[in-house]
Amino acid sequence: MATADVLKPDFASQRRHFIFTDEHEQLRESIRRFVIKELQPHADEWEENTFPDWVFARMGELGFLGLDKPGQYGGQGGDYYTSLVLSEEMVHAHCGGLAMGLAVQTDMALPPILAFGTEEQKQEWAVPAIKGEKILCLGITEPDAGSDVSGIKTRAIRDGDEYVINGSKTYITNGHRAHVIVLVTKTDPDAGYDGFTLFLVPMDAPGVIREQRLQKLGMHASDTALLAFRDVRVPSSAVLGEVGKGFYHIMWELQGERLIGAAGSVAGAQHVFDRTLEYAKERKAFGRAIGQFQVIRHKFAEMATKIETARQMVYTTAWRLQNGEYPVREISMAKLYASRIAVEVADECIQIHGGAGYMKEYGIERSWRDLRLNRIGAGTDEIMLEVIGRSYGL
Ligand SMILES: Cc1cc2nc3c(=O)[nH]c(=O)nc-3n(C[C@H](O)[C@H](O)[C@H](O)COP(=O)(O)OP(=O)(O)OC[C@H]3O[C@@H](n4cnc5c(N)ncnc54)[C@H](O)[C@@H]3O)c2cc1C
Repeated sequence: MATADVLKPDFASQRRHFIFTDEHEQLRESIRRFVIKELQPHADEWEENTFPDWVFARMGELGFLGLDKPGQYGGQGGDYYTSLVLSEEMVHAHCGGLAMGLAVQTDMALPPILAFGTEEQKQEWAVPAIKGEKILCLGITEPDAGSDVSGIKTRAIRDGDEYVINGSKTYITNGHRAHVIVLVTKTDPDAGYDGFTLFLVPMDAPGVIREQRLQKLGMHASDTALLAFRDVRVPSSAVLGEVGKGFYHIMWELQGERLIGAAGSVAGAQHVFDRTLEYAKERKAFGRAIGQFQVIRHKFAEMATKIETARQMVYTTAWRLQNGEYPVREISMAKLYASRIAVEVADECIQIHGGAGYMKEYGIERSWRDLRLNRIGAGTDEIMLEVIGRSYGL
C-alpha cells in the first residue's frame, strides 16, 4: 500500500462491489437516467391512480424487462447482477408500487415460464412480456391460504383434453392489468406436495373475474386484485411445467422473488437514508445542523452499518446464485434481514425528519409504507425464520 494511502484513509462509502463490472455500472447509469427523467416526475400522480401500462412497453423497448433473460427470447442475456442493478435503480422513481409491478413481471412470473415452459408458451407469453407488450401476474395467495401454500383450494380438474379451474386468488399484484396469470392450483388434493400444478391462464378466458381492486397501506402505484375463477376451461397445453410438480416449481420461483425483494429493501433503505442525510445536514435546531448532534450522528452510523450488512448478504447470496448454487437458507436470511432493517431505517428517518417525516410532501412516510410490505410479501418474517430454523434440522 502506498504511504499516501496509509496517511489518508479512504472513508468513502460508495465503493463498487466486486460482483459488478464496468458494464454493470454503465447499465446502472442508463437505468438511473431513464428512471429519473421518465418515471420519477409522475410518481405523485401514479400514487393516486396507479402507474399506466405504457411503462411496460417503454421499458421493454429499452431492453430493461429482459436484462438477465436469454437473447433467443428477446432478452439481453446478462447475468443475475443486471437484475439486481435494475431493482436498485428503480428506487429513484420514488414509487415502490411501480418497482413492485415491474418486478412481478421480470423476477416472479417470467422466470417460471422461461424455466419450465414449452417453446410455444415461451413464444406466446415470454417474448411479448420481455417486449413489454404483455403484462404478467402470479397467483399463489388465496383468501384462506397465504403462508401455508399447501393449503390452497383452487382446483384444476382434468376433463378430456382440457382442465376446468375453480377457486380464488387474492392480493394479486398486476391482477387488474395482466394478460395472463401464472396460477398455482391443486390437481390432486390427496397427493400432498405432489398434487399441485401450475397453469398459464389468459386473463380474458371466460370465467376469470377481476372481483375487486384492493386498497392498501402502501405501494399505492400498484394494482392489487381479488380474482375469482369460475369453471375456467383451459387446454392441457396451458399446464406450466410438470403436472403434479407445481409446488416445487413455485418454491423455486419464490427464491428469486425473495432475493430480488431483499435487494429492493436494501436499495429502498439506502435511498431513504441518503435523503435523510441531506436533510440532517441542512435542518437547524438549537443553532446547529441536527446531524451535528451526537445522538443523530449515531443514528446514521447504526443505519449505515445495518444497510451495509444487508447489502453484503444480498450480494454474496446473488454471487452464489449466479454461480449455480441454490442457497435457500442464505436467501431466506437476506430476505428476513434486509426487509427488517429497511423498515427500521425508514422509521428512524421519519424520526430524524421530525414533523416533516410525517408529511406527505417529503416522501419519507411513503418509503416507510412501501417498505413495510417486504416483511410480509413473498413469505413473511415468521416463514423466513421457519425456513432458516428448519435448515438446521430443527
Ligand atoms: C401488497 C401485496 C401484494 C402481494 N402480491 C402478491 C402477488 O402478486 N401474488 C401472490 O400470490 N401473493 C401476493 N401477496 C400475498 C403475500 O405473499 C401474502 O400476504 C403472504 O405470503 C402472507 O400470507 P397471508 O397474508 O395469507 O398471511 P397468513 O399466512 O394468514 O399469516 C398471518 C400471520 O401468521 C403468521 N404465520 C403463518 N404461518 C406461520 C407459521 N408456520 N409460524 C409462525 N407464524 C406463522 C404469518 O407470519 C403472519 O404473521 C401480496 C401481498 C400484499 C400485501
